[in-house]
Amino acid sequence: MQGLMQDVPLLVSSLIRHADRHHGDVEVVSRRVEGDIHRTTYREVHGRARRLANALDALGVALSDRVATLAWNGYRHLELYYAVSGKGSVLHTINPRLAPEQIAWIANHAEDRCLFFDLTFLPIVEKIAPLMKTVRAVVAMTDREHMPPSPPGVELLCYEELVAAHGDRYAWPELDEHLASSLCYTSGTTGHPKGALYSHRSTLLHTFAITWPDVMNLSARDTIMPVVPMFHVNAWGIPYAATMTGAKLVLPGCALDGKSVYELMEAEKVTMAAGVPTVWQNLLAYVGQNGLRFTSMQRTVIGGAALPPAMLRTFEERYGVAALHAWGMTEMSPLGTLCALRPQHAALPADDAFAIKAKQGRVFHGVDMKIVDDAGNDLPWDGAAFGNLLVRGPCVVREYFQGEGGDPLVTDAEGLRWFPTGDVATIDADGYMQITDRSKDVIKSGGEWISSIDLENIALTHPAVAMAACIGVPHPKWDERPLLVVVLRPGAGATRDELLRIYEGRVPKWQIPDDVAIVDAIPLGATGKMLKNKLREQFAGYRWPAP
Ligand code: ADP
Repeated sequence: MQGLMQDVPLLVSSLIRHADRHHGDVEVVSRRVEGDIHRTTYREVHGRARRLANALDALGVALSDRVATLAWNGYRHLELYYAVSGKGSVLHTINPRLAPEQIAWIANHAEDRCLFFDLTFLPIVEKIAPLMKTVRAVVAMTDREHMPPSPPGVELLCYEELVAAHGDRYAWPELDEHLASSLCYTSGTTGHPKGALYSHRSTLLHTFAITWPDVMNLSARDTIMPVVPMFHVNAWGIPYAATMTGAKLVLPGCALDGKSVYELMEAEKVTMAAGVPTVWQNLLAYVGQNGLRFTSMQRTVIGGAALPPAMLRTFEERYGVAALHAWGMTEMSPLGTLCALRPQHAALPADDAFAIKAKQGRVFHGVDMKIVDDAGNDLPWDGAAFGNLLVRGPCVVREYFQGEGGDPLVTDAEGLRWFPTGDVATIDADGYMQITDRSKDVIKSGGEWISSIDLENIALTHPAVAMAACIGVPHPKWDERPLLVVVLRPGAGATRDELLRIYEGRVPKWQIPDDVAIVDAIPLGATGKMLKNKLREQFAGYRWPAP
C-alpha cells in the first residue's frame, strides 16, 4: 500500500525560497576580489538568483546543461549556486588550483556550456579559452568598472550587466528531485579526475543531515564562515545548510591568510567556521604570534585531512573553541562522519576525551559504513582491527559522471552495494571511525603496516615543527621504511636526533622513522592537502643512511 503524502520534490530552489521568506533580512557578507567587504541578504541573493536564471535562459542554457565556475567563496558564487541548480541546470564548480590543462580537460569532459569566473582567475581563462570545446559564454563575475579586456578569441560578458538586464520574476520549476544539481570532479592525483554528479535529492538530504546537533549543529543564531572553498564539494554543503537554517553567512573570498581570516571572523562575530588543517595552521600561527583571542568563535569543523591532535588541543585548551573532526570525500557529497562525544563521555578525563575527539567520528543517519579485509570479510568494531573502509547511502556516488572508470561499487555477501573509499580505518565499539591511512599512503615495512598519519601527529607535537609528512621509501631489507619530512617553524631549530627522540615510548620501536628530511616546503594539492605522492617522487632517489 502506498503512503498518501504529498509528493513535493526535494529541490535546491526550496532552500533559497525558504530563506527569502523566513530569514530574508539575514546577512550574507563577502570579502570581494575587488578588495572591499560586501553586504547583502538572503532576500537579495534570491532576487538576483532569479534575474540570473533569466539571464541563463537568454544565453540558451538548457535543462541539465553544465555551467562552470572558477570562483572563490562570495555572494555572486552563492547566487550561481541557486540560479543554475534552481532552474534545472548543473552547477559545475571547478577547482582553480588545478593545472590549466587539467581545468580545460575537465570543462571539455563535462561539456560545460558557460563559464563564470572571478577576476583573479583571468590568467587561467586566457590559457584555457583556446582549449575549451563546448563553452559558448564566458562571464567575468564583476561590474563594468572592473571589467578586464577580453582575451584573444573570447568576448567576455559582465556579470552585473547580465543581472541588471533581466527581471526578477522567475518561477522555479518543479523538477524531478533525482535530476542532477551540481558536479564536482575528484582531484585526480592518479589518472584523470572523475566527476561526482549530485542530485537535488542527495543535496537536500545531505543539507538536512549536516545541520543536526550531533553533526555541525547549525542554527539561525549562528554566523557561519566556510573557509573550505565553494569550488570544491560545495564547501562541504555549508552554503546550502546556512541558507536552510537562516544562519548569517560570511564568505572570505581569496584572502585565506591567518590575518585576513582572523580579522573577518572577529569583525563579523563568526560563531562557527570550517576548513582543512593547513588553513587553520596559518590562522593559529597568526593568533599565537600576536597574542590574540577568539571573542565569538564557538566551534570549528576541521576535515579533508586528519586533524592533528596538537591542533585540537590548541583550539580547545588555549582558545576555548571546540574543534570537531570531520571526514568525507567528494564521492559522499562530501560529509561521512563527524566526531561528537556521546553522553557517557561527559565525565571522561581530558586526555581520554581528546583521544576520542581526534578520531574521524561517527556516521549520521544516511551513511552506512563498515571495514573489511582484502577478501571482503567484515572486520570487528573493536578499535584495533583495521581494514578497507566501505560506505553506502543516498548521498554516496553510484557511478562517476559519463561512466568514467566503470562500476566503482563492490557487492557484499548480502548483495548490498558499497563504495570503497580507498581509506584504511578502525571502528571502535561506540562506532567511532579512525582513519589509519589512505591505502596508497600506508607504509608497508616487512609485511606490517605503519600509519603515516600517526607518525605525522607525533612529529607535530614538537614545538619546532610546522608541518610534517611521513612517507614510505623503498628499503632493501624491509620493502619500505618511514621517512619523516618536516617543515620547521620560522626561526625554530631542531636536529634529526631530537625529532626522532619524540617517538620513543609513543610507538613500537620498529615504527619509528629511520630518518628525517628537513625541507622548506611540502607540496600541497589543490584543496590544501599534502601531496604525499609528489613527495614520494621527490624522494625517489633518497638513500638510507648506513646502519
Ligand atoms: P575532500 O576534498 O572533501 O577532502 P576528497 O575527495 O578530495 O574530498 O578527499 C577525500 C579523502 O581525503 C578521503 O578519502 C581521506 O583519505 C581524506 N580525508 C578527508 N577527511 C579526512 C580526515 N578527517 N582525516 C583523514 N583523512 C581525511
